[in-house]
Amino acid sequence: MKALILHKPGQGSIETIPEPVGGGRDILLKIRMVGLCGSDLNSFRGVNPLVTFPRIPGHEVSATVVQGDGGDGRLSLGTDVAIFPYTSCGKCASCRRGRPNACQFNQTLGVQRDGALTEFIMAPRQSLYPAKLTPKELSLVEPLAVGFHAVARGRVSADDRVAIFGCGGVGLGAIAASKARGAKTICVDVDDEKLRLAQAAGGEYTINNLKESLHDRLLELTDGRGPDVVIEAIGKPTTFRAAVEEVAFTGRVVYIGYAKEPVSYETRLFVQKELDILGSRNGQPEDFHAVSRLLEQGVFPVNEVVSVVVPLEQAPNALRSWSESPSRFNKILVSIE
Ligand SMILES: [Zn+2]
Ligand SMILES: [Zn+2]
Repeated sequence: MKALILHKPGQGSIETIPEPVGGGRDILLKIRMVGLCGSDLNSFRGVNPLVTFPRIPGHEVSATVVQGDGGDGRLSLGTDVAIFPYTSCGKCASCRRGRPNACQFNQTLGVQRDGALTEFIMAPRQSLYPAKLTPKELSLVEPLAVGFHAVARGRVSADDRVAIFGCGGVGLGAIAASKARGAKTICVDVDDEKLRLAQAAGGEYTINNLKESLHDRLLELTDGRGPDVVIEAIGKPTTFRAAVEEVAFTGRVVYIGYAKEPVSYETRLFVQKELDILGSRNGQPEDFHAVSRLLEQGVFPVNEVVSVVVPLEQAPNALRSWSESPSRFNKILVSIE
């Protein structure tokens, strides 16, 4: 079967690898569609510290069961599923606290172990999430769940004014989740097209911080107090700092973005504002369920969010073009037929 293999930074090719052998406790899946995200781009560029080469990327997966479990019918032949791409050890501090999404020894599909940009894979049954969704929708479940998890971490409720910095795939998940909880949702980005999608995903207000003052607009929209919750989904030192500067006194700041360099802070603000500063990593099973329910309602702008669908053969080229002009694409899906 064919697979996309990254051999070293900037170098990916389609090669033939042996098919997985079924028959064990795991379920054999035919891959249908795989989404590419920022972490795959970083792997391709050789700046993802968690990746070693050679590696098959791909962790935003929609697949079909081709060897059923013969059990309760939840995963019978032909069932379409999304995949929970993380592992958990069951023993570390996070796992003991019931937060396996932040397992110290997590191995994400396509990052620390080979992923789904191939024709077939084996996966444990507990990592499969069946839903009545199209392959396109199923491959959006994981990135949106990461945004949903951040909103859960921020304990967002209907009384909150929530500002979301960054309206890429994960940011859109946070926007949809914040809206679903009834919060006043303010979307911030430098790209008008992304802000348009943010509104389609449920964002009430938008701020293009290249064209207008982030500070002034946030104060205007929050009766001069600043947002109760800021969710940072970009990962730049400036936006990391802006989150604590703009958030209201006694507010919550949730970081999903990975900063690629050290960030220096005016730590006085942490104390003076008595802030809750929270990290958010991956997603929990309940986030995967919540996203599936949202997508089943058909209210999320799936077709607008996906900028392009390419066949597996063109995935190396798609990664190259994306790497050359990162702002040109929102979400690239790879279709594997
Ligand atoms: Zn991803
Ligand atoms: Zn663990």
